[in-house]
Amino acid sequence: MAQLIEGRAVAEKVYEELRGEIAQLRERGVTPGLAVVLVGDDPASRAYVRSKDKMCRELGLHSVKLELPAATTQEELLARVEVLNRDPAVHGILVQSPPPKHIDEGAIVRALDPAKDVDGFHPANVAKLALGDASGFVPCTPLGCQRLLVESGTQISGAHVVVLGRSMIVGKPMAMLLMQKGKQADATVTVVHSRTRNMQEITRSADIIIAAIGQAQFVKADHVREGAVVIDVGINRVDDASAQRGYRLVGDVAFDQVSPKAAAITPVPGGVGPMTIAMLMANTVKACRQQT
Ligand code: NDP
Repeated sequence: MAQLIEGRAVAEKVYEELRGEIAQLRERGVTPGLAVVLVGDDPASRAYVRSKDKMCRELGLHSVKLELPAATTQEELLARVEVLNRDPAVHGILVQSPPPKHIDEGAIVRALDPAKDVDGFHPANVAKLALGDASGFVPCTPLGCQRLLVESGTQISGAHVVVLGRSMIVGKPMAMLLMQKGKQADATVTVVHSRTRNMQEITRSADIIIAAIGQAQFVKADHVREGAVVIDVGINRVDDASAQRGYRLVGDVAFDQVSPKAAAITPVPGGVGPMTIAMLMANTVKACRQQT
């Protein structure tokens, strides 16, 4: 049976490290600050914003939660971002995705001060990741996946990693991060997506599979070779009459059939999810260190 890679435990370890760093910053009279901007009232986004705010408070960070009505215009939002860019108490800014349809998300991301872009979506940070410049910010979910691999004792250097999905939030930065030269990287990376031919052939040659496609339980036992390490990024709702809410959350991996073959695997929930927010906190502390 596979080793279960417990995201909550690894996230707790990250928080322990951050508490130490935050205490050091405090001694210099500095408190890291994160501003989270939510436009509209999407319930899932609201829940994410709440949990980010809660985690900031638990760590003793300065937290600014800006909840704007769905009718907020592009210009109003840009003006809010500009105020946060100039606020010295705010070291990190995140605009919760997705915004309402009338907002040009790319323009909002480009308006962020790259030094405060703790989500790592600004073109300047994307370029830094491609260049292997460690002063940039790497998107939180791929950063969390890398940490899970490291903490589970998985050999990344020289391994064949197959990333499923090529989004700018997960798949692409994940691939770039693990193919970099250096510690905790040096992998041979293949990216597969909806147009890939013979996907099973490719995934079966992977030492490490990272699934981020948003398709419930898509990765089956036949996709995975014996002894592979499997990181499941997916969060998908499936109907479940027996659950209190009428649904349950499953990953992109069919856990029950894949886990007997895998050497190690993340659960959903409790795997990558807790790491994403932990790395957001880590990026905020890094932003503060760089700005002060
Ligand atoms: P996107 O929808 O932006 O991207 C999905 C990617 O998967 C695309 O590249 C798409 O290919 C590819 N894809 C879709 N269907 C298939 C298929 N049948 N076979 C092969 N490739 C396919 O999703 P995200 O990257 O934003 O998110 C992926 C999953 O991760 C979602 O379940 C999301 O909820 C979850 N997630 C979890 C986070 C966490 O904290 N745990 C954070 C972020 C996301 P193509 O480009 O060709 O369309």
